[in-house]
Amino acid sequence: MEMRARVAVAVETPQHAGLAALLDYSCDSELPPGTLVRVPLGKRELPGIIWHRAAEQPAEEAQLRPVAEVLSALPPLSAHWRALADFAAAYYQRSTGEIALSVLPPELRRLTALQLTRRLERLHSAPDDATDGRASAESSAKSSDKASAAADAAVARPQLSAEQAAALAALATPGDPRPVLLHGVTGSGKTEVYLREAERALAAGRQALVLVPEINLTPQLEARFAERFPGRLLVSLHSALTPAQRLRHWLLAHLGKADLVLGTRLAVFASLPRLGLIVVDEEHDPSFKQQEGARYSARDLAVYRARLEGCPVMLGSATPSLETWHRVQEGRYRRLLLAERIGGGALPRVRIYDMGQLPKQSGAPLVLAPPLRQAISERIERGEQSLLLLNRRGYAPVLHCGACAWKSGCPHCSAWRVFHKADRTLRCHHCGLTERVPKACPECGNLDIAPIGRGTEKLEEQLGDLLPGARIARIDADSTRLAGALEAQLAAVHAGEVDVLVGTQMVAKGHDFRRITLVAAINPDGALFASDFRAPERLFSLLMQAAGRAGRDAEQAARSEMWVQTWNPQHALYAALRKGDFEAFAASQLAERRAAGLPPFSHLALLRAEAKDAAVATAFLEQAAGLAAELAAGLGCAGDVTVYPPVPPTMSRVAGIERIQMLVESNSRPALQRLLAAWLPAMHGLRAAHRGLLRWAVDVDPLAI
Ligand SMILES: [Zn+2]
Ligand SMILES: [Zn+2]
Repeated sequence: MEMRARVAVAVETPQHAGLAALLDYSCDSELPPGTLVRVPLGKRELPGIIWHRAAEQPAEEAQLRPVAEVLSALPPLSAHWRALADFAAAYYQRSTGEIALSVLPPELRRLTALQLTRRLERLHSAPDDATDGRASAESSAKSSDKASAAADAAVARPQLSAEQAAALAALATPGDPRPVLLHGVTGSGKTEVYLREAERALAAGRQALVLVPEINLTPQLEARFAERFPGRLLVSLHSALTPAQRLRHWLLAHLGKADLVLGTRLAVFASLPRLGLIVVDEEHDPSFKQQEGARYSARDLAVYRARLEGCPVMLGSATPSLETWHRVQEGRYRRLLLAERIGGGALPRVRIYDMGQLPKQSGAPLVLAPPLRQAISERIERGEQSLLLLNRRGYAPVLHCGACAWKSGCPHCSAWRVFHKADRTLRCHHCGLTERVPKACPECGNLDIAPIGRGTEKLEEQLGDLLPGARIARIDADSTRLAGALEAQLAAVHAGEVDVLVGTQMVAKGHDFRRITLVAAINPDGALFASDFRAPERLFSLLMQAAGRAGRDAEQAARSEMWVQTWNPQHALYAALRKGDFEAFAASQLAERRAAGLPPFSHLALLRAEAKDAAVATAFLEQAAGLAAELAAGLGCAGDVTVYPPVPPTMSRVAGIERIQMLVESNSRPALQRLLAAWLPAMHGLRAAHRGLLRWAVDVDPLAI
């Protein structure tokens, strides 16, 4: 009888399908784990990855279906890569196949063996055009290492500051495998440290992976890496690439041809056979957490991956996440500090302006406190720029009828529809519902309906009145909707064609504005009292980052200012901001978190259920809670895990769907993981008993609760 091999294959099957994590198939010969295959499932044929040899169960041999096709042209995915997928699946409570397949380029999952072979042939014959959109001379890379190493050395490098040199010396000292927090104020030259570390990895014949929070930030960083490593092949990986580009870049990384991979969170799963360094820039940024499907944290997976691969990992930030900071305090991470700006530029002087001291006046509240308005006017006269931050787009957050108290609510969401004056629409920022502004109140017919509050659009308009003759521009999600609009607007700011820039947090991140000498937060107080426990952390980070936009030019640094208009001038957050004191802020926040039993002092998971009828979602979660209590007792971890009652979140209704959530908290991560691992499979069975339940999902380490 012919001997057929048996393999366990990871296939992208949704967990609720009730199928095992891995499915067994037979094949003609022994195939190495990590091999890409296509397998039949029901009437379909799906891509899969051979995970390991199947357990021997001779009696069922006849029932095994054969692997349909082997994509043997592709080298197998490494054991480390599979271990990363296994870990992510277990930790974030998804199936192995779902994680492993969903992080491959979509194009790769579609190809047949023949198509893939052709793609690879083309890649081998012309591997040099991977860095799209740049001159081919820049990226005429060969991975032949001696030539490349020589090219690396030929490029002029800036003189290191004493702090940079000290950080690099510490990194070069062997024997400390801990993850590194590169804690550097904006403008302190973190990127130069990344570049030098990448240089070291490349010189050792390894690949470097650099993660950034946003696609917008990749071109700047890509340009710096390309300039520094002209003889190396650099590829980017993010969701804005075309499917063909993404596949090509992924393949170049997987084949070991690309030396540098720059990308957003999905790049943490790039296949890198020679991985020698991971950098996570702006590690505190919430965009590293995937918000749908498998809700993984790319920052946390980067740390895990570095340990797996035995390579260094560096997390960079001016305002580290409190989780990372806590690990530094515990000695689990090593902190390297860059406290000074390159070129001696000082951080701007922070002026906390107490709005309560303004004389009471009738009518609308003042937009700008008189001294702030004066400070902006002076800058316009000197030809300098000001940046005004307001984290609310549109003209006004709500329209209101004074006669009957009607407000412009969204019929499908628990949110107001925002008034956009430019096109006279009411838009829901959650479900997208857009309608013309009514001429009269829809409830009582009153013609006098008025906007309440202020968004960026209104601020822009009011500044036009307050600062006659000033050139005012606005950058937010509305003004940059069209392709190329953001680049054009940023170019105008850089060219000095703008006096006052109004924007949301979009403008506070990363951009290197040389002429801005004043940054003002117009109305940041909301975050102090938000229900989300991380809101103050985000506000502090945003304000520090925004402050870093001012005075990047050392000459101007001395007269740079950061203004905050507040009704709560005594708040600890502002006191820490005034001194630029991250440590004081972190200490006060961590003390609050400790007292409240919040992360990083506890571990959370959030169960979310959605239905047209809130009662259905609630009933499902209540039954799940009962199940959890039984399971926890059985597992002996009942005392370590608390399941809170189901409640509606702040945004309880979106697009006509009601959301209910249930928080699970534990002081022990292993206990929480044990419970989730037993609980979630059992919950798939509960679902059938709750007609009308649309979706449910678990979010481990949720960002917002
Ligand atoms: Zn009315
Ligand atoms: Zn809506």
